[in-house]
Amino acid sequence: MFLYLLPHNFIMTFLSQRINSLSESATLKMTKLGRELAAKGINVISLSIGEPDFNTPEHVKEAAKKALDENYTRYSPVPGYPELRQAIVNKLKRENNLDYDISQIVVSTGAKQSLSNVILTLINPGDEVIIPTPYWVSYSEMVVLAEGKSVFIDTDIESNFKITPAQLEAAITPKTKLFMFSSPCNPTGSVYSKDELAALVEVFERYPNVFILSDEIYEHINFVDKHESIAQFNSIKERVIVVNGFSKAFAMTGWRLGYIAASKEIAAANDKMQGQTTSGTCSIAQRAGIAAYDQGLETVLEMKKAFARRRQLVYDLLNDIPGVKTNLPDGAFYFFPEISSFFGKKDANGTEIKDSADLALYLLNEGHVATVGGDSFGNNNYIRLSYAASDEALTEALRRIKEALSKLV
Ligand code: PMP
Ligand code: GLU
Repeated sequence: MFLYLLPHNFIMTFLSQRINSLSESATLKMTKLGRELAAKGINVISLSIGEPDFNTPEHVKEAAKKALDENYTRYSPVPGYPELRQAIVNKLKRENNLDYDISQIVVSTGAKQSLSNVILTLINPGDEVIIPTPYWVSYSEMVVLAEGKSVFIDTDIESNFKITPAQLEAAITPKTKLFMFSSPCNPTGSVYSKDELAALVEVFERYPNVFILSDEIYEHINFVDKHESIAQFNSIKERVIVVNGFSKAFAMTGWRLGYIAASKEIAAANDKMQGQTTSGTCSIAQRAGIAAYDQGLETVLEMKKAFARRRQLVYDLLNDIPGVKTNLPDGAFYFFPEISSFFGKKDANGTEIKDSADLALYLLNEGHVATVGGDSFGNNNYIRLSYAASDEALTEALRRIKEALSKLV
């Protein structure tokens, strides 16, 4: 028998254009590099992945154990168990004052899949998707997968990383199909107020062919106000797709549970997409999700208290680093400081820091702190730090960052 061993480079030529056009997720890449360094026995502090450092609440874990005992181990309906979709409908009414029917809810393997489903069900090749920068790393890559075209609206630290209605209107063309954003925002923590959303809605009212993808996964981590959803504006609600999930609010990142709330037509299209790709998400995670939504927000509020304390801690420590400029984010658990003053400087080996990805790699190799370069979020002059870590880890990480940056000349 002949055994053909194909050389690695040869196999690479068989990969599809689709996968070749896709960039690797920078959040996951930096986290992987951090883990690899840690596996060599190096004490790495990870501020790269956005994941609560808390455990999933006990009552949620109990519900999962019960689900196993009760044999919830078979295929679930593709859009999720009706009881979970009803719990989501109740949550949207109770917490967001939004009216939906269970036929408008599709549960998925995480907000990430929901975002991807929506883009793949709405975007034709060449359709334009407006995305304010900075944006969460996967937004623009999901548009690449759908062969759409991302149209970016740039924001910076001076505008508190928020767009104006005039900027939105200027970006809309006859090819615009979708506007997508997160509030609270990953990576900046910026939160749009009800008035700011209302001003954007006035623009959307003039463009009835534009859909709005509203990623609200950080809704409970908001330090300024109560969460405002853009779906509350009835004039555009039919065109809004709310994406949310359990990862951040209930420290359930590994369970893979998210959902959309949208018009019946969009929901049916997402159901069809999942029916041919993943089917319904994990049955046990779904039963746990029911317990999470039905038993209140006590644990979320506890987490938020810790995040509020850490936000102040990191803000003070960042302000103490020469060359770093930051704002005080209103929500989520990230800082997105400006670090471009270090570009052009060199490390001890004479290697130049040319961009934010170089700086993130330098901080990992020199300071043993994992962060993510802002270039992957669409703004190269920044880096992202997640403060979902203990106070001690954050204090030590910021000390290391300060020391490493002071060595650049
Ligand atoms: N949207 C944003 C803005 C996020 O930060 C994340 C975190 N990974 C997701 C979506 C995806 O979350 P999930 O774990 O539910 O897939
Ligand atoms: N949303 C998290 C982050 O931004 C998780 C990692 C990912 O899925 O990209 O770090």
